Order: sequence, then structure tokens, then C-alpha cells
Amino acid sequence: MHNTNLQRLAEEATLTEQRAKMVERQLKQRGIKDERVLDVMLRVPRHRFLPRELWSLAYCDHPLPIGEGQTISQPYIVGLMSEALRLTGNEKILEIGTGSGYQTAILSELGGQVFTIEGVSSLAQNAKRRLVELGYRNIKFYIGDGTIGRSEEAPFDRIIATGSVPLLPPSLCRQMAEKGIMVIPVGERALQKLLRVSFVGKSVIQQVLCQCSFVPLVGKEGWPKDTQDRLLDSPWG
Ligand code: SAH
Repeated sequence: MHNTNLQRLAEEATLTEQRAKMVERQLKQRGIKDERVLDVMLRVPRHRFLPRELWSLAYCDHPLPIGEGQTISQPYIVGLMSEALRLTGNEKILEIGTGSGYQTAILSELGGQVFTIEGVSSLAQNAKRRLVELGYRNIKFYIGDGTIGRSEEAPFDRIIATGSVPLLPPSLCRQMAEKGIMVIPVGERALQKLLRVSFVGKSVIQQVLCQCSFVPLVGKEGWPKDTQDRLLDSPWG
């Protein structure tokens, strides 16, 4: 076999091993229990959602830059949010902030159909190319302001926001199905609370999952545009 092929196989084996360790140490040992979430995060090649030069860091315990001042979330946060959505396989899901498309891939495997909105067109296009290459077929991609949701496709059984907002966006609340669940970081620009919001009849039940620090969702029902400049302060957002 050609030497570079051997190198590639060895690299794949190392990445697979690192992924298994990530699931064990960063997810299971920190309390993620949903078997479907653990299984899918063991299988989805997170490195493929990053630029080649960052593959060796793909399974580390922190977010990583994906270009345009944005980040791919830390594996634990992806696991926590995915588990919090309580997906069984049939749900219609709206994701706001496609980014690299990694969380989108996880949702696509755990739910029924995924609608994902990204504000930055180059990120949306890269994510779409990757996800199509990897064989995902139940995802619809949109470029635009996700803070107002997508009324054309509503109602959604689940909504997940992978960037922060100052307040729960009223448009997203209106687009929830009965017994729907929204997982979203809400709070200050630098620090937020990750919320699970359940919609049952006329009541809206909020549960705090953890403290967190996400990049902002910039849009009509998110942060005003100028707050984006502050992203330049830190590579991790
Ligand atoms: N889930 C992604 C994380 C992306 S970070 C991943 O795992 O890679 C949040 C993303 O939200 C960024 O890509 C950013 O460009 C996008 N974003 C910011 N404001 C937005 C808005 N109003 N609508 C849709 N996407 C937005």
C-alpha cells in the first residue's frame, strides 16, 4: 500500500480512538446518559467539520474557531443540548446557527427532519457541502436571521439555538408546537444561562441547565449588530 494511504489510515485510527475517549471522559463521566446521544457522538466524525489543520484538536474539551469569528461548540455542550432536547426520532427541529454543521449532523441523526438557519453565507455553504458529502439527507439549509425563526415551516417540535440571545425571542416561542422544547442560551453578552423551555398548553416552563458562554446571535430578536465587533476580543467567543 502507498505510504500516504497508510498514514491516512493511521490518522483515522487515532482520531477514532480520540473520539471514543471524548465520549467516555467528556460526556459519560460528566453525566450525559442518553444512549442515542452517546452513540451518535461516537460515530459522527467531528474532525470533518473543522479545517484540516485543526483535526488533531477536534476531540479536545473546548470550542474551536471555524472562521468568520465563529466557533464550533465544545463536545460536552453539544451532548448536553442534544440530550436536553429529548429526541426520539420523529421530531421536526429548527436549529439557529448552523456554523460548522456538527450539531446539525447530530440533530439529523437523532430527530426526524432538521431546518437549519445560518447568518453567514460562507459558513452555511461549507456546512451544506460537508453534510451532503457525509450523506445527510433530512436537512434543509437557510441563510438569514434565525432569531425570527421560520414561520413558513412552523410549528417545530424542537428549537435549538447555538448562539446566545438577551431575551427569549417571541417569534421562536410562537413557532413552537404543543409539548415542544426549546434549548437556548439566554443572558448577558459574555455569560448566559442555558435554558430548556417546555411549552405545555398555555404555560412555559423554564429550567436552567448550566452557565455558559456562547457567541451572540446577531439579529432582530437577538443582539444588535455592533456587539459582533466584540467577538474580535477572544478567539473562543
Ligand atoms: N452549532 C455550531 C455553532 C455555531 S456558533 C457548530 O457546532 O459549529 C453560532 C453560529 O450562529 C455562528 O455560525 C454564527 O454565524 C451564527 N449566527 C449568528 N447570528 C445568527 C442569526 N441571527 N441567525 C442565524 N445564525 C446566526
